[in-house]
Amino acid sequence: MQSRRKFIKISSAGAGSMMLPLSFPNFFSDNEEDVSKFKKIPTYCEVCFWKCAGWAYVDNKGDIRKIVGNKFDPHSNGRFCPRGTGGVGMYNDPDRLKQPMMRKTINGEQKFVNVSWNEALDFIAQKMKDIKAEHGAESLALFNHGSGGKHFGTLIKAFGSTNITAPSYAQCKGPREEAFKATFGKSVGSPEPADIINTDCLVLLGNHIGENMHNNLVQEVADIQDRKATIITVDPRLSTIASHSKYWLPIKPSTDLALLLAWINVIIERGIYDKDYVEKYATGFDELKNHVAQYTPEWAEKITEIPAEKIKKTAWEMAQAAPKVIIHPGRHVTWYGDDTQRLRAIAILNAILGSYGREGGFYLPNKGKLPKMPHPAFPKPKWSWKEMMGDKYSHAHYSVANAFIDATHPDNKGEHKLKGWFAVGTNLTTTIPDQKRTLEAIDNLDLFVVVDTMPAEICGYADVILPECTYLERCDHPRISPHREANFAVRMPAAKPKYLTKPASWMVKKLGNRLGLQDYFPYDDFSEVIDWQLRQIGSSLTDMKQRGVKLQPKLNHDLFIKNGEDYKFKTASGKIELYAHSLEEKGFDPLPVYTEHEKPAKGFYRLNYGRAPMHTFTRTTNNPNLTDLMDTNNLWVNSITARENNLKNGQEVWLKNQDGIVSTFSINVRVTERIRPDMVYMIHGFGRNNKMLENSYGKGISDSELITNVKIDPVMGGTGMRANFVTFITEQPRKEEAAV
Ligand code: SF4
Repeated sequence: MQSRRKFIKISSAGAGSMMLPLSFPNFFSDNEEDVSKFKKIPTYCEVCFWKCAGWAYVDNKGDIRKIVGNKFDPHSNGRFCPRGTGGVGMYNDPDRLKQPMMRKTINGEQKFVNVSWNEALDFIAQKMKDIKAEHGAESLALFNHGSGGKHFGTLIKAFGSTNITAPSYAQCKGPREEAFKATFGKSVGSPEPADIINTDCLVLLGNHIGENMHNNLVQEVADIQDRKATIITVDPRLSTIASHSKYWLPIKPSTDLALLLAWINVIIERGIYDKDYVEKYATGFDELKNHVAQYTPEWAEKITEIPAEKIKKTAWEMAQAAPKVIIHPGRHVTWYGDDTQRLRAIAILNAILGSYGREGGFYLPNKGKLPKMPHPAFPKPKWSWKEMMGDKYSHAHYSVANAFIDATHPDNKGEHKLKGWFAVGTNLTTTIPDQKRTLEAIDNLDLFVVVDTMPAEICGYADVILPECTYLERCDHPRISPHREANFAVRMPAAKPKYLTKPASWMVKKLGNRLGLQDYFPYDDFSEVIDWQLRQIGSSLTDMKQRGVKLQPKLNHDLFIKNGEDYKFKTASGKIELYAHSLEEKGFDPLPVYTEHEKPAKGFYRLNYGRAPMHTFTRTTNNPNLTDLMDTNNLWVNSITARENNLKNGQEVWLKNQDGIVSTFSINVRVTERIRPDMVYMIHGFGRNNKMLENSYGKGISDSELITNVKIDPVMGGTGMRANFVTFITEQPRKEEAAV
């Protein structure tokens, strides 16, 4: 794309299918090495966002030798996953960002130039002031993912804007959060409060547990496998977990809602739902019963290609296990644009089986608490993302990242416009679909600052790049996340920041000083804030350096609803809303309705993507420790499809999507029976196109660049990304065609 803000490939000078083994537990780190002679520093992992607490072991030279789990941590139970143990690769990666850089035009050519911290921060502060004077403080926005973003959140709010967003909502979990909120009055949250360890039946739809390596979740699945609990996996691909399941239902892609509705039909028609639970806790059952009468298993068979008998049998299995049954809401659930409705069907299914708030179903999570250090009240902005989004996405309880792009784009004719962005720890062009639109929005900015540890692709479009030190070199806000027991964990620096990198807490303090906002950052080092917080509850940093994790039993409430308890749900009716009045009031279907989705043209196949146990999106695909385990993706192609297209196993191909977009790089075909013939599959996060990423540049294909047909969920703004179709190109495409 031609752009005023040209993508700059950061030069070196400028910047200084693997499968999960059959036994899950073997994949976790062991504790064999003698670490008694090393110093141990508490941390919580940031290789993915499960945030497992652990210990970094440091030798007497200051080298980080090993990272292991903290045995008191409910996220890790003392074990780290392979990515987590490879976290030290983030610290050691020679391709890391090393010092601040600014976009400058030299002899008519845009270049990144190394600058001092003072120059970079002075420039940003002045631009922020200019934006405030011309457009208002509200025109500044933050995109964040990870701990560093929280510090920048304080800065943005102190500056006068609440326009803060994270792609983890509209590009990932949002539909499930809203569907559960509409049904149970409470969103799902992370980690998901699924009581897997006690369940007798786990149902997964397109959920790649084991390939998506969320730590204690995978450990619990391994445990229930050992005791032969029923696992039902619905997936057009024989994923790792599908291969360990009692039932694998290789569903026709995009028809999951039909299967869910048929399951509800069977369970109601046969009277095998939890009648006492539904009567006591739910409303709208009669409307649900009437509604799903049309969705028989025989009807669903024609749509899903799952035999009606199998639909009945699996419904029966769930009911037999109830209430110890979990129809898991999944995590990355933005697929086809009607995702909130699909997740509503999942919530309803759990509700009629009585699993919510029951042992072996969903527990009612507890959350730790730490007092916040006082600072002046944040100024009240004149408008926020809520006004910016207007009537769009009326059920979004969080800001929608794509709406921020719309508000920045030159075609925005509304009164609320964004003129400055901070992107902290999020590679926006590979995370938010429709790269072209994102780049057009970026081109319309007065200021674009990227804060990252790595030269991610998004850096190439920044005005200023600020190099953040890795999580192993900094302290951040304590991790406080819901779990069975209230708890929190601390992170302290295990090593000094390498090169000229700095923690985000330092960056915002320095910017705050330049903006007259110093009172919001009352510390020299952020550890002082943590120590203050800990002292308010009778602990201290010295204490927590020994523990890493603290449980707060006094904050705990019961995990499960007691038999016959008069439990009040946080919906308007105080009951589980099988029929969602909150959706109806906004003009949406109060009960999920099946609609057919687009089909591929002849010769095209649905593009599906997923995760590998050793990688977290583009965050890790340059990590030297983890690329040793897997350094590229391949393309799963069914043997029938391969024959139809004269493809051989291992053959190099390029892909072209329905809109004529051709992949920049190539990928090798993996011919397999483990996928349906109507789709292809690859691991997300590869096909990196920044040459500074020496380990990963040009390896494999990026699914992101082929996702141009985006189906927006009207309920909450999620971006459905599984509506794209590709065909194969077997000869090197023309260079100009390959360039996106
Ligand atoms: S699941 Fe693995 S990568 Fe994610 S936070 Fe835990 S140890 Fe780190």
